[in-house]
Amino acid sequence: MGLISGGVFFKILAFLCFIRLSQGRNSATPDLPPLRKASSFSKIQHEAYDYIIVGGGTAGCPLAATLSKKYKVLLLERGGSPYGNRNISYLENFHICLTDESKNSPSQGFISTDGVINSRAKVLGGGTCINAGFYSRANRRFVKDAGWDEELVNQSYPWVEERIVYWPKIAPWQAALRDGLLEAGVSPYNGYTYDHLFGTKVGGTIFDEAGYRHTAADLLAAANPDNLRVLLHASVNKVIFKTRHGHQKQSAIGVQFKDENGGHHQAFLSQKRGSEIIVSAGAIGSPQLLLISGIGPRSELKKHNISIVLHNEHVGKGMSDNPLSSVFIPTKDPPKQSLIETVGITDDGVFIEASSGFGQTGDSIHCHHGIMSAEIGQLSTIPPKERSLEAVHKYVRNKKSLPKEVFHGGFILSKIDGPLSTGNLVLVDTDPNSNPNVTFNYFKHPQDLRRCVYGIKTIEKIIILQGYSGHHLALPWWMSCRQGG
Ligand SMILES: Cc1cc2nc3c(=O)[nH]c(=O)nc-3n(C[C@H](O)[C@H](O)[C@H](O)COP(=O)(O)OP(=O)(O)OC[C@H]3O[C@@H](n4cnc5c(N)ncnc54)[C@H](O)[C@@H]3O)c2cc1C
Repeated sequence: MGLISGGVFFKILAFLCFIRLSQGRNSATPDLPPLRKASSFSKIQHEAYDYIIVGGGTAGCPLAATLSKKYKVLLLERGGSPYGNRNISYLENFHICLTDESKNSPSQGFISTDGVINSRAKVLGGGTCINAGFYSRANRRFVKDAGWDEELVNQSYPWVEERIVYWPKIAPWQAALRDGLLEAGVSPYNGYTYDHLFGTKVGGTIFDEAGYRHTAADLLAAANPDNLRVLLHASVNKVIFKTRHGHQKQSAIGVQFKDENGGHHQAFLSQKRGSEIIVSAGAIGSPQLLLISGIGPRSELKKHNISIVLHNEHVGKGMSDNPLSSVFIPTKDPPKQSLIETVGITDDGVFIEASSGFGQTGDSIHCHHGIMSAEIGQLSTIPPKERSLEAVHKYVRNKKSLPKEVFHGGFILSKIDGPLSTGNLVLVDTDPNSNPNVTFNYFKHPQDLRRCVYGIKTIEKIIILQGYSGHHLALPWWMSCRQGG
């Protein structure tokens, strides 16, 4: 008696290690407006809003914070709070977060009809809570094509950068990529910069020096709390339209949403001129909500018995996703973990990036991250059309018998900026939390395929020039293909 058993000793040790690890992380919750559950809505005084924003993600949070400076804003987010979730906050849990299938997961598994597995954010802060955290200013051409005011865009960048962007202390894997890119001719070296410049650079990251993730939700600290109401677990299932007196067309006047207990609510815009519903529910959630609300191709709406507000052929069309092709490089020893820090940008719109060291601890090998894993890709042995959630679960069961050495290594990735291949989105049902059927037609356009081949050839050059096939590696490298941001 009086002795601590081995199991208890290790639990105490693990707890102390956790406390040590947590120290030094800038994990204090920022001073935010209250984040209330959607069910609280009926208990509070109903007021009309100048802006109702649907989707508190990467775009929705800064938009709500900025608009609240002058206007009454309601922000509705279908997910919960990112604060207190270690899978979101800690860089080492990046891949675990992506494949969390629990009810309150910040990530919703999603498989396109092309058979490519991905995740949709379902949390305040949106994609910034589950993504790889790389930060860069936009390509100037992109800003011009979008028709934005370049000066205003340039003035806006520091607002975000001062709040949630950090410089990475680059990991050895990232330094090796930097050297390899330069040797392979992806030059000049532009050093540490947020700007989108051709050549090789080190960009910003939303992970701080201690590996703690800062998200778009933190940007709500810049809001005027008297003007902003944030509701969590508020799933908007309809934009409400009405024909205003003296008008012929219907206008959006409010939204209908469900709370965390399944209770129904409605919120309305003020009568002020210029009041608006802003749909910032992501590339999939936004067209999905328009369709559910009655805006879209007549034939599609009819299939689901949705009353037509406006026949518009374009809703759900032109869906595209930047394809990511990755080369896994096994190593003898586990490399230090890193997410995207170094990037090579070619004038042809190919991005070369890298990540290292995920999925190699005992915990993460046995966790449920299957073929949705950020590290082991799509398991190319499963044909695309057979990549279902059941296939993921089967794979995870088999994965448990793999030795952990298989996961030692890292990736070099090639992405295509602005793919020319496009597809479409159609509803499966009228539930905003279901996944619609989305087809991206990856590499259908010959130029996308040509750029993919160029990217992979550049990676091959880097591997050879960096001598990866020599003393760094014990095993041959193989290729996997998956999609990402
Ligand atoms: C694995 C991965 C890695 C990535 N890595 C990077 C990276 O390193 N750097 C980078 O710049 N980009 C990256 N991206 C892309 C980036 O995260 C997205 O482009 C960005 O988050 C999109 O922002 P958004 O505001 O359009 O949508 P989101 O941030 O997804 O926000 C949409 C929000 O709307 C909510 N919503 C949806 N429907 C409803 C509804 N009906 N009612 C209420 N709320 C709703 C969702 O829950 C979500 O929070 C990555 C993406 C993925 C998936």
